[in-house]
Amino acid sequence: MTTLASLLDQQIHEREQWETRRHRGPDGPNNLKLWVLACMDERLPVDRALGIHSDTPVYGGDCHLFRNAGGIVTDDAIRSAALTCNFFGTREIVVLQHTECGMLSKNAADLETHFRDLGVDIDHLQVDPSLPELKLEKGAFAKWLGMFDDVDQTTIRTVEYIRNHPLIPKDVTVSGYVWEVENQRLRKPNPGSNTGRERTSSTRESFGVHHPQPTRWV
Ligand code: ZN
Repeated sequence: MTTLASLLDQQIHEREQWETRRHRGPDGPNNLKLWVLACMDERLPVDRALGIHSDTPVYGGDCHLFRNAGGIVTDDAIRSAALTCNFFGTREIVVLQHTECGMLSKNAADLETHFRDLGVDIDHLQVDPSLPELKLEKGAFAKWLGMFDDVDQTTIRTVEYIRNHPLIPKDVTVSGYVWEVENQRLRKPNPGSNTGRERTSSTRESFGVHHPQPTRWV
């Protein structure tokens, strides 16, 4: 039976948690000292997949959550990871990508054509209006879109890239996982076929995209 006393106790507890987080200030860590890089797709339930509460309840969350198309490394992902790891207490990074990702479903060259047909000058494109120095060189647009061939390979390479980036402290733990939209389950990335991944849409071929995407990794 729910009593008034238990409700009041809960409210007091939540208030104390909130005050603790407020006391830590903007430099204080989130509950798990964790930064998550995840795809923006609404079919990827980050909290459920990782068993965390990223930003609920209101008195504090378990992680700093960064979502973009694909959950891939971009300049802003690195910027955010570098800030949270060096100044906001984060000690662990988790990369979370998923099957059936839209980033597998189209060829970057076709998307490039789409914008050219709209009259966009993609050969001289500024991608951050507040930072004119950051602009795409001629021919870089398709790579910048970040379409990929294989979600498992991309997850593994994303983890490696973050782990080896000079702005990320060496003692920060970095790991990666794939959420299977079809089966509603989490698994480790594995480009082999021994994880049952052939029954999921985890490559561009499974979307009928035949031409390899432009290589992003150097
Ligand atoms: Zn996605």
